[in-house]
Amino acid sequence: MSIAGSVGLDDLSRICPLISRRVQPSLDAQETRIVAVGAVRFGDVRPVVIAGPCAVESFEQTLAVARAVKAAGADMLRGGAFKPRTSPHDFQGLGMEGLRILEAVSRETGLPVVTEVMDPRLVETVSAYADMLQIGSRNMQNYPLLVEAGKSGKPILLKRGMAASLCEWLGAAEYIAKECNLDIVLCERGIKAYPSGEYSRNVLDLNVIPAVKNETFLPVIVDPSHSTGVASMVETASCAAIEFGSHGLIIEVALNHPGTAKPKCDAAQAISPLTLGNIVRFIEARVERNALRRAHAV
Ligand code: PEP
Ligand code: MN
Repeated sequence: MSIAGSVGLDDLSRICPLISRRVQPSLDAQETRIVAVGAVRFGDVRPVVIAGPCAVESFEQTLAVARAVKAAGADMLRGGAFKPRTSPHDFQGLGMEGLRILEAVSRETGLPVVTEVMDPRLVETVSAYADMLQIGSRNMQNYPLLVEAGKSGKPILLKRGMAASLCEWLGAAEYIAKECNLDIVLCERGIKAYPSGEYSRNVLDLNVIPAVKNETFLPVIVDPSHSTGVASMVETASCAAIEFGSHGLIIEVALNHPGTAKPKCDAAQAISPLTLGNIVRFIEARVERNALRRAHAV
């Protein structure tokens, strides 16, 4: 029986030839494309750590979190200026003001910035302020947005749709690649599957990391914040993702000093800068161990 629209891994050479490891013979079996965002290199031996607030809420909050994540060892700053919220009555982000804040905080701290763009008409504007554009889970199959993001020439962080198969995710990446933009970093952020929402927000699909690496040369990172939705799970999920071969992490952080306001979104999954520091140390120890292993192997 054939089913309309049904695709599997055997169809990837047709769906996404531009990013398929099988179709692009110049890249050998192990090689990952390095996606550079300033001095930050996704796909290299050292996993990249992106950290910051869920949403940009004010200049002071963003600067304080940025300084704290930098001190903890993060390589890049995250923060939403345009927030995709379930309810239109909830805080939607600061919009343009949020972009200006991100740019100022980036200049102040030296951390490159990634932020979400939801509207194809805003790609050019967001590109003027951010070092990397994030396509969120809800927009992974917004094809006009993917095309505009590809045309921007900016590095793109492409989150996995919350119910997307690997074929659909890589098909989405192909839309960006087709605009002659191969600076794509994939991001697993948890999928909606039974029992999402019972004891964690989503189901963190770590198995997809080796599968992505088999099929494409693009780097892949993990979001332990949106995949778990529970702050106490984020450190373990981060370490597990690194053990599975993730090229990096994107993590939500909030300050927890007495008197600091609770974040307006996703407060329950925000970790402290102290916990972020533990994750960075875990990564550094692992990178060192691997370097020693390689040195002994030759
Ligand atoms: C985010 O990273 O701010 C976000 C909304 O994530 P996702 O698109 O994965 O839900
Ligand atoms: Mn969030």
